[in-house]
Parts: sequence; structure tokens; C-alpha cells
Amino acid sequence: MNYYYDFHIHTALSPCAEDEMTPNNIVNMAMISGLDLIAVTDHNAAANLPALAKCAAEKGIVFVPGIEVESAEEVHISCLFPTVDAAQAMGELVNSHLLPLENQEDVLGAQYIFDAEDNILGKETRMLLFASDLGDEEIFRAAWNFGGCAYFSHVDRDSYSVLSVLGSLPEIIHTNVVEISNTIRGREFLLERKDLRGKSVLFSSDCHRLADMSGRENWIDLPVDRQRLNAQDVINWIREKDLR
Ligand SMILES: [Zn+2]
Ligand SMILES: [Zn+2]
Repeated sequence: MNYYYDFHIHTALSPCAEDEMTPNNIVNMAMISGLDLIAVTDHNAAANLPALAKCAAEKGIVFVPGIEVESAEEVHISCLFPTVDAAQAMGELVNSHLLPLENQEDVLGAQYIFDAEDNILGKETRMLLFASDLGDEEIFRAAWNFGGCAYFSHVDRDSYSVLSVLGSLPEIIHTNVVEISNTIRGREFLLERKDLRGKSVLFSSDCHRLADMSGRENWIDLPVDRQRLNAQDVINWIREKDLR
């Protein structure tokens, strides 16, 4: 069955995201947009995933817990997990590999942590927007070891993408799935790059405000009916492609 998705959504925990990116607003927007599956991937952090999971479950959207990790090479890598616990384990690892810097809220924005009713539980004070000291390969391996998967984020972009930083996909990492921005420019980029032929592509919005969330545009075909669909099906889809 085909399921419509957006696997790259930031909450207001990411300092660069709008304050409107609360759990309920995100889930409601996904419902209005006709999405079946969403992943939330904040920068280097997992603190809003429990609230998202609860909120999505109540409203019948299938939720995939995720983190967008920034590597030592300053490459963004989307990591998705079958459970919030697995994502939080990855979050703890990443947190221990961040520079011990305080967020500059007045310059970069606040980093809000919510409950499932959109109440603000607190603010993350550690600066989340900088590179960790984990290498690309370490991040892929860690995501797999926690039962999840990883793929390079927005490879069509001019910054924080593996192709802009390294020029090509590193041979040492066996990855057959890449993310392309859900834009016309992203699709043009994909056609131009011979080295991406044969890769499985996920188009996602990388939305930092509600209006930028993908609509019913991109789908993945998963061999499971709607009643039994869960995050593990998405992880399996990606991991099986990487094992080829
Ligand atoms: Zn990114
Ligand atoms: Zn992002």
C-alpha cells in the first residue's frame, strides 16, 4: 500500500524552527495535509519525541521518532527509529558528543520542550545547532545499533549536505537511501546527479514552520495494511534497501 509521508519535520526544540511547531500543531497540520506517516527530526535532540508520539497516537497518524544529527564533517544525517526509547538512546549518545555550549536564545531562538498538550515543560539550554564530534560513519553505525536507520539529509542543498561537503557519497558507508528536498530544485538536482541513479529517494520538507510541511505528494509502498502500520515498517523498508 502507498502511504504519504513527510520524514523531516522540526519542532520548536530546534532553535531555527518557529514557536508554532508544537506537537499538536504538527500532528494537526499533518492530518490536514493528508499525510499517513510523519517523522520528527530535531537537530541533535530527542526531547519532544514522547509528546509527539502520544499526540500522534491519539489522532491516528503513524509517527516515526527521529533525530537529525550533525556530524563532525558538518553533514546532516537523518536517523529514524522504531520506538521513542531507541531514539532517546541515540539522543543521549549525541548529547554526550556536543560541544558544551549554552544556547544563545536571543540570537538563535529558544529550544522548547513540550508535553502532549503543548504545555512548555522547559527549555533545552545546551546549544543544539552545532556539529557533534561523531563522524558520519559512527552516526550510521550507532543508528543501526539502536535498531534504527540513517540516511543523508537534503543531499541537494548547498550547505550541511554530504554532497556539498564531501562532493560524493562516501564509499565506506553502505547507504542506498538518500533524502532530497521536496522542491522543484531538489527534483532537478536528482536528475542531474548520475551518482544518485539507483538510489531510493525520500522527498521531505525539512519544515521549520507549519506552512512548509509536505502535502499528499510523496509516498512509500509498504507491505502492510493501515491498521498494523507502524514506525518499524518504515525502518525495515530503509534497512532492507541498505542491505542490498
Ligand atoms: Zn538539515
Ligand atoms: Zn532539518
